[in-house]
Amino acid sequence: MSKKFRVSVHTPLKWPNKCAVCGENATTVYEAHGGLIELACAFTDYPGIKTKVQSISYPICSKHKYTTITIRILYFISFWGMLFSGFVGLIFYKKGLFTFSALAIFLISLIAFIASIKWKPVRLRWGYHFFTIIIRNDQYAREFALVNNIE
Ligand SMILES: [Zn+2]
Repeated sequence: MSKKFRVSVHTPLKWPNKCAVCGENATTVYEAHGGLIELACAFTDYPGIKTKVQSISYPICSKHKYTTITIRILYFISFWGMLFSGFVGLIFYKKGLFTFSALAIFLISLIAFIASIKWKPVRLRWGYHFFTIIIRNDQYAREFALVNNIE
């Protein structure tokens, strides 16, 4: 299970000084990224889509920093795997060829992609005025709520 918090971007956040995954002593920090896609033409003078990314740092132990980096790598690989196999599969499908391998790679990438999102210890969604912070470890989430005085 995981817990979700919606906080104002102006609220200074405090993090319980322990690893967000296991609760052991935190020796380092890791960043959670949250993106915001906006139509750039509304705000700048060139048309197109612009992506903005915000990040927050949270405490983590070195062991889980490596696990989290691995999850992030899996996230990127599976994302591009999905895009690439989907694209290749579509081209061959239009030519009347059914490519089982493209479909298989697509499905494996899709599963890995969903899993990598679920496995992230802390997820961040960013709106203009609010952050949505999703913490996977329930115990850690409770302490996070306590030190920040939020529900
Ligand atoms: Zn840990």
